[in-house]
Amino acid sequence: MTVPLPQARDARDPSEPPPPPSDALPIAETFVSVQGEGKLTGVPSWFVRLSGCNLRCAWCDTPYASWAPEKQTRAMADLLDEARRTGVRHAVVTGGEPLLFPRVVELCEGLRAQGMHVTVETAGTLDPAPGAPCDLLSVSPKLSNSAPDPVAFPREHAMHESRRENLPVLRSLLGRQRESGRDLQLKFVVTGPGDLAEIEALLARLEGWEASDVLLMPEGRTREEIGQRSAWVASACVERGWRYCQRLHIELFGNRRGT
Ligand code: SF4
Repeated sequence: MTVPLPQARDARDPSEPPPPPSDALPIAETFVSVQGEGKLTGVPSWFVRLSGCNLRCAWCDTPYASWAPEKQTRAMADLLDEARRTGVRHAVVTGGEPLLFPRVVELCEGLRAQGMHVTVETAGTLDPAPGAPCDLLSVSPKLSNSAPDPVAFPREHAMHESRRENLPVLRSLLGRQRESGRDLQLKFVVTGPGDLAEIEALLARLEGWEASDVLLMPEGRTREEIGQRSAWVASACVERGWRYCQRLHIELFGNRRGT
């Protein structure tokens, strides 16, 4: 699937957004919905989407937090208060790439101090010390299918390819989560059976995961696009003991923001 992406809005290195004020984070959106992907699919959750990303995936489903970041600067106390007032028990810290912002550590600590279960969704290329404390670390390593068109987006292509795989960081993130005794998942967006060998090669170089932590998610922004890939993805999961990852929010609401 080829989906036109918005042009990047500025010429700055997008991995280096201007730092927000000391007590704030750049936020694309917050909302309450059910978690649409992964081990906690269906769980009512408060989502906080940080705006900014060090990658440029061709099929990015949140370009307003990566290719053309939209953001409001929100104070930490304001975010924590909003999360508390929703009354839901699960928080999903996502992006963009939330680990691009060191203060996300503080956000995670604050949410957990309020008694919330915290999921952090990351591409696994950055590791802010001492790590973002979370109950479920959701890592989505980007495969070669994620590279943007080198002709239409030469600069973004080069940047993306130089960053999308960072094995030391990936090992560090998984190792720390395992040592903490908290849960993790490895979620791969797949476009064709050719992706399977790449996933297996990557997993062979990693430790600290079990087959039940590996999820394959068919790429697609509509039920129809996902449906075209669901049969072979499910078969691949059955053969390997991995999990099929649906995109419940698309099934329920379609490809809409805030869901
Ligand atoms: S890592 Fe996520 S937010 Fe960043 S470009 Fe890729 S899909 Fe979009």
